Amino acid sequence: MIPIPYGKQQITEEDIQLVVDVLKSDYLTQGPKIVEFEKAMASYLGCQFAVAVSNGTAALHLSAMALGVKKGQKVITTPITFAASANCIRYCDGEVVFADIDPETYLLDIKSVRSLLEASPKGTYHGIIPVDFSGRAVDLEAFRKLADEFDCWIIEDACHSPGGYFIDSKGIQQNCGNGNLAELSIFSFHPVKHIACGEGGMITTNDEALYQKLLQLRTHGIVKNEALFTNSIELAGGESSYPNWYMEMQELGYNYRLTDFQAALGLGQLSRAEKGLEIRRNIAQKYTQAFENIPEIKRKSGSVIGHAYHLYVIEVEERLHLYNYLKANNIFTQIHYFPTHLMPYYQNLGWEVGDCPHAENYYKNCISLPMYPSLTDQQFDYVVDTVLLGLKTSKR
Ligand SMILES: *Cc1c(COP(=O)(O)O)cnc(C)c1O
Repeated sequence: MIPIPYGKQQITEEDIQLVVDVLKSDYLTQGPKIVEFEKAMASYLGCQFAVAVSNGTAALHLSAMALGVKKGQKVITTPITFAASANCIRYCDGEVVFADIDPETYLLDIKSVRSLLEASPKGTYHGIIPVDFSGRAVDLEAFRKLADEFDCWIIEDACHSPGGYFIDSKGIQQNCGNGNLAELSIFSFHPVKHIACGEGGMITTNDEALYQKLLQLRTHGIVKNEALFTNSIELAGGESSYPNWYMEMQELGYNYRLTDFQAALGLGQLSRAEKGLEIRRNIAQKYTQAFENIPEIKRKSGSVIGHAYHLYVIEVEERLHLYNYLKANNIFTQIHYFPTHLMPYYQNLGWEVGDCPHAENYYKNCISLPMYPSLTDQQFDYVVDTVLLGLKTSKR
């Protein structure tokens, strides 16, 4: 029997052909597929601008840079996320402050964020990085109001939620990454995420100035628009105008580009994103039904409107037993996540057990079940039966 992982990419023959076409073309990188992928992503999400980058972590790093994070500046995020959500602030020498999660939604708890903001003079905190953890959209309308009150920017880490949304107080659907409520939103195209490029990432925004800055930072901080040049024409080697080859590095940027063949794969994946999302929502609904009235399951992801179901999480008392039982039966679940504030790196910066009690309690019981579009009905039934058997055998 083939192993069942918690997440898995789906590559079609069409995807392969799209990549092969690029490999046979003139541009392996910096070609036309990048812009095509950016436009397709912007249109899918409903935002104005999108910048493709080499991975989700690079997307976070450039976002923090573009928003001007500097030494000592404080930024708030959640401990229940991939470490990169916090690390991007450290790359810029900023200070990460972890707020606790809401134990019902597993998302950054706005009340916890508010009490941090209110406990210090205005200007202490510069930004907030909420995460659409597991694919559940953060209420960015509420976070926007709070951020405005304290002059903070928002980076939405939407790595788990392409296609996810919430309904705002006016009844309007707000797509994750649509640029309406966060300055910047970021996505990852790692194979376990909805859209797989191998490695890849995207930053979305409705702010043109940030968009231009991101383009520049993605390629070494170089500008090619002569209206922005600061050196003289003479120094550049021209006579009456800048020579054609001339460009200026005006800031310290990086090479965080995506290749054209990765973008081609992304385009193929994106064309099936809605279908994949539908299957994920269907799987979630079936899990929710199957786990109704199971006392060993203390809490579960459930069926939530707009949830993009990167993960389906259940909380069980005897998590280690269930994990090992499933593993022995060829089902490879995963734990998302060990709280970032308790990673040794952040403990060395002063964080300790007890700082985010809801996140720490959640970690003790959480387990992410298989969730991906190519999971067959038969595999799904096998997973549910095995989970239920595992729970029965775990009674101490
Ligand atoms: C995957 C992920 C990232 C990082 O993306 P990479 O492409 O792996 O660098 C950041 N944040 C969250 C929440 C993620 O799941």
